[in-house]
Amino acid sequence: MAMTMDKAKATKTNKCKIGFIGLGIMGRPMAENLLKAGYELVVWNRTAAKMAPLLALGAQAGKNPADVAGKVDIVITIVGDSPDVEQVVLGPDGVLAGARPPLTLIDMTTMSPAVARKLAAACAEKGVDMLDAPVSGGEPGAIAGTLSIMVGGRAEVLERCRPVLEVLGKNIVHVGGHGDGQMVKLCNQVICGLNILATAEGLALAAKAGLDRQKVLEVVTKGAAGSWMLSNLGPKMIAGDFAPGFMVRLQLKDLRLALEAAEQMDMPLPGTALAQQLFRTVQAAGGGNEGTQAMIKALEKLGHIAPAPAPAPEPAPEPPAGKE
Ligand code: NAP
Repeated sequence: MAMTMDKAKATKTNKCKIGFIGLGIMGRPMAENLLKAGYELVVWNRTAAKMAPLLALGAQAGKNPADVAGKVDIVITIVGDSPDVEQVVLGPDGVLAGARPPLTLIDMTTMSPAVARKLAAACAEKGVDMLDAPVSGGEPGAIAGTLSIMVGGRAEVLERCRPVLEVLGKNIVHVGGHGDGQMVKLCNQVICGLNILATAEGLALAAKAGLDRQKVLEVVTKGAAGSWMLSNLGPKMIAGDFAPGFMVRLQLKDLRLALEAAEQMDMPLPGTALAQQLFRTVQAAGGGNEGTQAMIKALEKLGHIAPAPAPAPEPAPEPPAGKE
């Protein structure tokens, strides 16, 4: 269950109305959790068909981001990259075109810290408060409402919005001013990217050595090498299951953002640059929309290791009895 009954009851009394923009892998379950917690929701997604499951649960459809903003107290956005957030917020039909103060914009996309600061300034000119509040915890965390949320912006705005964020996450930390939430998220992505590389490299070595990788996982997961990546992505790597979770193209985007931000500070990130090149190898071979566990393919290619067999397809359903 995504949340306890106590949490649902506590938030049901809160009458603030929420707009939700971006119903992808992350946004859809996050929006569902807000509905389940009793919030009134106005949703918008560029591909309109993705709104249907939320409308079936009682959400209202907005015509565009401006229309959503005009109907709510808080707008949450979780789209792709910096230009997407700029389009959704600053575009002709964007959030600021329809904003009626007091409105708060909480952007939960992973994007450039510099763009987050620019958007916060544009919001302030219109009397709109903004928080950059990117998340960690992946699709499972979005479904369970247990995301880690790193928040940049004014502390009093966060405190006002905290009951809403508590529906989405368990670990909500104010990390600094505008853009600092995004900077923390980029540090997080550097750590994740290198953890994925470490997991893939260890499991590729195990394959090359002819070891039973199930047994390797069984023992190594509980020792000093244990990690979220090993426990969650290791089994998928050895099963050849590359369905996303978190897509290679999005991880590449985040590592690019980290490398760009580091360049501004004259900060070398050698491990990140290596992980980026290996993720790019996977993308160049057509794996951009696969999950980040597809990193194993780059290592298998380098080591001339036969790839893991793809998971067996689901058996076809039995024809209904008596209908032959
Ligand atoms: P996704 O499944 O690709 O969803 C992206 C959503 O953004 C879709 O609803 C898409 O609309 C919308 N969108 C993209 N560009 C847009 C634009 N220019 N205008 C309007 N809508 C636009 O991605 P996701 O996995 O949910 O990730 C969303 C964000 O969360 C990304 O910044 C990602 O880095 C971050 N994140 C993801 C994870 C994860 O594990 N997946 C974890 C932490 C953070 P359409 O449906 O029309 O394409």
